[in-house]
Amino acid sequence: MRKKLVAGNWKMHGSLQQNALLLERLKAGMPGVQCAVAVCVPHPYLAQAQSLLADSLVLWGAQSVSEHASGAYTGEVSASMLREFGCHHVLVGHSERRSLFGETDAVVAAKFVAAQKEGLVPVLCLGETLAEREAGHTMAVILRQLSAVIDHAGVVALASAVVAYEPVWAIGTGVTASPAQAQEVHAAIRVRLAELDSGLAGGLKILYGGSVKPQNAVELFAQADIDGGLIGGAALVADDFLAICQAAN
Ligand code: PEP
Repeated sequence: MRKKLVAGNWKMHGSLQQNALLLERLKAGMPGVQCAVAVCVPHPYLAQAQSLLADSLVLWGAQSVSEHASGAYTGEVSASMLREFGCHHVLVGHSERRSLFGETDAVVAAKFVAAQKEGLVPVLCLGETLAEREAGHTMAVILRQLSAVIDHAGVVALASAVVAYEPVWAIGTGVTASPAQAQEVHAAIRVRLAELDSGLAGGLKILYGGSVKPQNAVELFAQADIDGGLIGGAALVADDFLAICQAAN
């Protein structure tokens, strides 16, 4: 039985004051939560997360990482820097990074490896656009994005990673994949991995992300291959995020 994980992606939201309120509410709500919980905060707030969450069960992480270890890469943040601030997870390949910042499959794979080298758990985000789904290319896109990482890092690298299926058309739109649509893709990811390493496939956490709300989380998380969620908008509202975490109980 895989323990579920619910991870919040705050995107570029927050302030020291708002974060403190949100994190204190999350900490207070943790006794009612059985799944693992993480928040991926903007880089400047990692020190705050580290100091406020150190005595709690809530894990913290980042939303992006450089593929480079150090050097003349102005504006970038390395995996060793994230580790110094106690990060547990880091998102790689979020669709906003792919579409707005030009991150290719190859760059995502390099970031995945850079994160693991420093002991961080990469949360590898995969997802198709609406046009790709309507053209019947969903599985091809997901498996291409997954293969780019496997080819670069080796399939065993997935043993210390998390995968998040996030259909681009469902992120921040209020339109959620139906439980059956999500389950179909999650199962296909697991089958693909089982072909390469059957032991590993059964233990891999595959999260669903895309307009998860307290109202739809129970049904999504009840699917056999959905092991929790990656939550954007609802992660900024403590009661909603806690309700989603409880849906994973
Ligand atoms: C996300 O940002 O990864 C996400 C899933 O956002 P939302 O929950 O708002 O759709």
